[in-house]
Amino acid sequence: MSASDQILAPLADDVRLAYERAVQPLALLAARVRLWDSNWQPRREFVTQVACEDGEPRSFSLPVDHPAAEWLMGDDSAVMVYATIEDGGTRWCGVLTRIINQPSGPCPQCEHCQTRVLTATFRLM
Ligand SMILES: [Zn+2]
Repeated sequence: MSASDQILAPLADDVRLAYERAVQPLALLAARVRLWDSNWQPRREFVTQVACEDGEPRSFSLPVDHPAAEWLMGDDSAVMVYATIEDGGTRWCGVLTRIINQPSGPCPQCEHCQTRVLTATFRLM
């Protein structure tokens, strides 16, 4: 390792870590998600990666043709949607605050990025 490498290496690590935090600031947990309608009737159940922001809002993204995404976008999802989210030992209960239907990535040409995903965000209730 040259003298300049020794100076640059820690800096590069710091830059990389800062970049990784900026790109993926949320913890992702594999969780069992149950969606309930406004009458607390169970409607959909699945396992997915759930993003957590320090205790408060949780969100997950699904392909738009996933049955749960179709239900969330459909007419019969009613006014209120609740979710119970179980990851390991904890059970979290939230109410839907936002759904976004958007391409999964930034490139206009690539098939993967143009696949649409639904992101649903819930806040603790
Ligand atoms: Zn792409």
